[in-house]
Amino acid sequence: MRAQLTQDFRFAPWWWEAAPPPQSREDAPASSYDHVVIGSGFTGVAAALHLARGGRSVALLDAERIGAGASRRNAGFIGRVMKKSFGDVADARDEACARETYQELHAAYEDVFALAHEEGIACHAARCGRFIAATAPGHRAWLDADLARMKAALGHDYAILDPQHQHAAIGSNHYHGGAIIPDSGSIHPGLLHQGLIDRAIAAGVAAFGETRVNEIHESDQGVRLETTRGEITAREVVLATNGYTQHPGWFKRRLVPFRAFMATTEPLDPALLDELIPQGRTIIDSNTNIDFFRRAPDAPRLIFGGATAEKLAGEEAIAARMRKIMLKAFPQLEDVRLSHVWDGYCAGTFDMKPHVGQRGRLHYALGYNFAGVALGCRFGKRIADRILGNEPGPSVFDGTAFPTMPLYTGHPWFIGAAMRYFAWRDAGLAKRWDAAAHRPVDAAA
Ligand SMILES: Cc1cc2nc3c(=O)[nH]c(=O)nc-3n(C[C@H](O)[C@H](O)[C@H](O)COP(=O)(O)OP(=O)(O)OC[C@H]3O[C@@H](n4cnc5c(N)ncnc54)[C@H](O)[C@@H]3O)c2cc1C
Repeated sequence: MRAQLTQDFRFAPWWWEAAPPPQSREDAPASSYDHVVIGSGFTGVAAALHLARGGRSVALLDAERIGAGASRRNAGFIGRVMKKSFGDVADARDEACARETYQELHAAYEDVFALAHEEGIACHAARCGRFIAATAPGHRAWLDADLARMKAALGHDYAILDPQHQHAAIGSNHYHGGAIIPDSGSIHPGLLHQGLIDRAIAAGVAAFGETRVNEIHESDQGVRLETTRGEITAREVVLATNGYTQHPGWFKRRLVPFRAFMATTEPLDPALLDELIPQGRTIIDSNTNIDFFRRAPDAPRLIFGGATAEKLAGEEAIAARMRKIMLKAFPQLEDVRLSHVWDGYCAGTFDMKPHVGQRGRLHYALGYNFAGVALGCRFGKRIADRILGNEPGPSVFDGTAFPTMPLYTGHPWFIGAAMRYFAWRDAGLAKRWDAAAHRPVDAAA
């Protein structure tokens, strides 16, 4: 395996080359703040930034170095993304709910560009579009039907590519055409996060890495936190720990943590990269448990991931699995070595929806189901607005029932079975839509 890794191989995110998580300060937090934010990813840093700008004293605490969670480990894809499609939501609830949900996801997507622009953060924010590569002909037909339904309701554009033309979107024969979503983008997550933490510190946030919160005690007077660097009291607390949530039990019982994996190649010949991803879009496949690909925004490299929730032990096993994903889509990369491989934790929920809300003196935004870059920034600000008394307006993700399962304590022993169920469901979807897939594209539209 070593031969398939570069000499300078690192088991660390590519993003940390440009934006390593900052060294932690050595002094201890003060004994009291207006607000303590637990977790320093996009959710926590956005909440802390807006609270500090609202004139509050804020401590931002992280058990690891600041930003070392999923927020500097993700793929940097942004778009209207949720595990439940427009049609899923419309069928489970009604079309009005699907419209509201996808309008809010769209607003979150637009917010990221506005945030980067208004804050002057250079993070390679690009409206690059997305290609959803169909893993079966039936998936292409299903994508067409689902996206047509959303277009009719919300006007969001898309185009279907048949397999003969898919090389315009991906240099692979593995797929069966797919869908192009023009209104979709990408960022460099490390640089966006670094820009936000810089602005939060400039606004007065006291950010402490390597400061774990072990206990949270709530009373009528406020909240007392026991941390590895002393006790802190606060009026209210923001819980922004997503896939790394350890406590309290009420939240842990509602989140399903799962591990996700990614890799980066050594520098590629730019002509080869143009062949792999000709238009520079982000690429995901049409499965529930996706493989995903993009160009690095700051070097001629391929970044990709998949194998979510698989039990992979050790760097070499993860690297070998990543290589398999790369070669399945792009066998032409047989001689290409990997320079970076890494993992990170996400949080799923039992209704496959993120949740933002308040429980006593704890405000939370959790359970992004693999889509927390845009929503994390949005929900962090939303929490701050609510605390500051600036009515943030309605959200379809706010205050709705946050389900758990009987006897579930936060250890997802069923994750392997869940992934097998998703694969079975994806295969069923492919079969159901297979006949439609073999009609000419015009007739299917
Ligand atoms: C490999 C991978 C790829 C992904 N790709 C995408 C993508 O392309 N697009 C997208 O939108 N989303 C993606 N996601 C999901 C996205 O990264 C997350 O949803 C998002 O970053 C969550 O942000 P957050 O601020 O809520 O949590 P995080 O960034 O995970 O931060 C939580 C923090 O809480 C800290 N913490 C936990 N417990 C404690 C404690 N007791 N005391 C103090 N600190 C604590 C942790 O150390 C951690 O730093 C991906 C995730 C992974 C792992």
